[in-house]
Amino acid sequence: MLAINQINQQRLWKTIKELSEIGSGTNIAEEGVTRLSLSLEDLEARHYVISLMEEAGLDVRVDEVGNIIGKLEGTDPNAPIVMTGSHVDTVLQGGVFDGTLGVLGAIEAVRSIKESGIQLTHSIEVVSFTDEEGTRFGTGYIGSKAMTGYLDEATLSLTDANGITYAEALHQAGFDPTLYKQAIRKPEEIKAYVEMHIEQGKVLEENELAVGVVTNIQGPVWVEVTLNSHPDHAGATPMNMRRDASLAMAEVMLEVERIATKYQGVGTVGKLKVEPGGVNIIPGKAIFSIDLRHGDIELRTKMVNEVTASIEEISKKRLIEPVIELKKSVDPAVCSSTIVDLLEESCKELDIPTMKLPCGAGHDSLMMTKITEMGMIFVRSKDGISHNPKEWTEKEDCVKGTHVLLQALRKLAK
Ligand SMILES: [Zn+2]
Repeated sequence: MLAINQINQQRLWKTIKELSEIGSGTNIAEEGVTRLSLSLEDLEARHYVISLMEEAGLDVRVDEVGNIIGKLEGTDPNAPIVMTGSHVDTVLQGGVFDGTLGVLGAIEAVRSIKESGIQLTHSIEVVSFTDEEGTRFGTGYIGSKAMTGYLDEATLSLTDANGITYAEALHQAGFDPTLYKQAIRKPEEIKAYVEMHIEQGKVLEENELAVGVVTNIQGPVWVEVTLNSHPDHAGATPMNMRRDASLAMAEVMLEVERIATKYQGVGTVGKLKVEPGGVNIIPGKAIFSIDLRHGDIELRTKMVNEVTASIEEISKKRLIEPVIELKKSVDPAVCSSTIVDLLEESCKELDIPTMKLPCGAGHDSLMMTKITEMGMIFVRSKDGISHNPKEWTEKEDCVKGTHVLLQALRKLAK
């Protein structure tokens, strides 16, 4: 068993507070934090992260797509790197802890290791990834996609609400997007990637646990469905002559619930619109999103196929023409069983009770798993709230999660 290292709790909490002040405006409790990727606020947050890493004594570099990488040199320069990190960009009016905890906790953990004078064989890199959230350009994991070789020209041509392309935004921020392939890391360079993140759900809270060990990440499939029929007068059209697009949508929504429950996955219709949208007009068009997730890719494929079949069947029955468009598909990922064991062992050594749980949200770890062994530490979220100004994680929980991360990094880099 390793001797226990303590982090500097006050310092960790101070950095979380300082970073929360960037992009938070005057009323953080109401407005939360907004640091859309490569915005002025995000750039200021990046400067803050760089200065913290430098203060911690790490070698800092920023790669071609803006990933900030702080390195604690190990004794063997040829040994593969142990990587940890997360992101500091946020959604619109997001919370203080999403992503931030994984970056600042990692800096604090590595700083504590350095200060204690412990020599580790493997180098440790703390990464603050560019644009995890995807709010500004509609697609996320940009930094981790670039690092794992999954970024492409099409993504760099995406535009934000002001018509600025990704490539232009990177260029304005001082990066050279034409060199994005230079950000690729080879699998043999990296030993493992461990990310600490707030849970963004209620499972840990329900179980009265501060820290959890993630077993797998449910990859989302996003589909946009348009049901086309014909708008008719609400008074003049008898019930048996209608082709009501909104009723077809309602039937599909119930099917999404039934199918997700059947496969023990999750399914959500979160965005919906009917047209023309009059009190006295039978809807002639319904447009809605479907988000389907499962930890097992085969079961998720079955969910997607059954939902698609039900859309077709319901449309046929109601004389409606459906258009089904795949918007996003991210493969689910299984965490490395070695890292799961190592995290559980670390919790035990630190006397922090824990549990294993699946992860429902997407993270950079989803991409990193394509090139290395991956694991995740979850830290309790108050009321399960996230992507919201009310997002909260207690200081003691942040400290516990960071202690687990530190212990795990020491074991991995030994
Ligand atoms: Zn996040």
